[in-house]
Amino acid sequence: MRPTSPSASGHGSSLNAPPRSLDHLPIFLRLRDSAVAVVGGGHVAERKIEWLLRAGARVTVIAPSLCSELTARAAQGQISHRAERFTAAHLDGMQLVIAATDCREINAAVSTAARARALPINVVDDAELSSFYFPAIIDRAPLVVAVGSQGKAPVLARWVRAQIEALLPARLGHLARFIGARRGRVRQTLPAPARAAFWDRIVRGTTATRVLHGDVRGAEQEFAHELRTTSLSASDPRGGARLGEVYLIGAGPGDPDLLTLRALQLLQQADVILYDRLVTEAVLERSRRDARRIFVGKGRELGGPGAAQQRIHALMVDLARSGLRVARLKGGDPFVFGRGGEEVQFLAEHGIPYLIVPGITAALGAAAAGAIPLTQRNMAQSLTLVTGHALDDDTIDWHALAHAHQTVVFYMGVAHLEGICARLHAAGASPSLPAALIERATLPQQRIVRGTLSSIATLGREARICAPALLVVGAVAALGAGAPATLASAPVLFSAEDANEQ
Ligand code: SAH
Repeated sequence: MRPTSPSASGHGSSLNAPPRSLDHLPIFLRLRDSAVAVVGGGHVAERKIEWLLRAGARVTVIAPSLCSELTARAAQGQISHRAERFTAAHLDGMQLVIAATDCREINAAVSTAARARALPINVVDDAELSSFYFPAIIDRAPLVVAVGSQGKAPVLARWVRAQIEALLPARLGHLARFIGARRGRVRQTLPAPARAAFWDRIVRGTTATRVLHGDVRGAEQEFAHELRTTSLSASDPRGGARLGEVYLIGAGPGDPDLLTLRALQLLQQADVILYDRLVTEAVLERSRRDARRIFVGKGRELGGPGAAQQRIHALMVDLARSGLRVARLKGGDPFVFGRGGEEVQFLAEHGIPYLIVPGITAALGAAAAGAIPLTQRNMAQSLTLVTGHALDDDTIDWHALAHAHQTVVFYMGVAHLEGICARLHAAGASPSLPAALIERATLPQQRIVRGTLSSIATLGREARICAPALLVVGAVAALGAGAPATLASAPVLFSAEDANEQ
């Protein structure tokens, strides 16, 4: 079979000359039990040697003296040491050479000697003297990502590595091994044309999620089921109906950089995203481009929030049953005033697999953004998160909340500021107890109003503080006023005095 069809003109090769964009070809070198010479015994050499040892190389270091780490490695027999000045003869029998001295003449001599023997040579930080270089590496062995800039911009390569690193789950290597161990079985069970689609489903689907989150037994069951249904439905290689899954994800207080790595990874995988009013556009932008987004914010629908919650439950189950991976994205943490418990219970009752990813709850986001140390020593020995909604039921122990030496954070309290402060006061809290209101914590529009139990409700109204906002009550609420505003995302800082002047 000809690799390409003849060119229209009928003469010459039909293959266009490929663009010469590569000064270096990225390849992975098997170094297990290969002899590698490293000239230089300092910290720079040590960093390269660590990678060489990980790859199983037999390393000989040529250097009059060694740094302490390399001395220890030599003592443990991990490396051989020739305490000599470099000569070309040191390269006899070597398969790869690295020069990491701080003397360019020696490095140049090593490079010349290596090239004369046609040995690959890397001179650290010297592209001219090198025939290869070390890329920025992400090690999820057996899966490895190497990023290089052909020596032009190593810092940029490291930055790219960091970006990719954040997206790759820590257990990706487990997944690679899981797949590797089952390739033979799949080859025996499925005809060649069905295999690629099968593996694609495994990698993108619930089997992979299970491996990545440590449930290897569940993954094996899922895998076996997938393989069985695929092999049974030869006419339809996509197999029978599959069950999707739900990720209950805490989106944090609003700043997308406060998402957890796991939240980010799952947002990149999910097919559909159900999100609340508190989830910001900036957070949604971190999800997969082609994911369907469904707003399920509560409050405006007919039937009120209870009915809305029922609809969310039904929607999650329906979407998961149609085989989709559903991200249920909630502001803050799903289990802090987030009704996450009810959703999880409903999913469990309906046999839908789910995963819970914690988020930074608003109180913690607000504390950091306002530089309020919630449990400052000698000021607060405990922290209580309270809903301001429950103002009128008897389940809140106001006397307990009014005790000194603690911090109390009220969620959903903006509409009830006067009531909350009056209750605390009536229960014995001092009117001069510091209090702070933090609106839209961690967002560019963040505002903070500081005052006392007796003044905060008025100050809050004057500043037109709206939901979402938190009320922090306790001695620590007076701290953090001097924090540099520019470090947060441009918040406007109010002090009690400022507000009074308005
Ligand atoms: N599960 C969420 C809380 C949901 S209840 C969490 O863990 O944070 C909604 C309340 O959270 C709001 O009324 C407000 O009091 C608080 N809240 C959420 N995001 C906030 C933010 N960025 N700034 C201030 N308060 C916030």
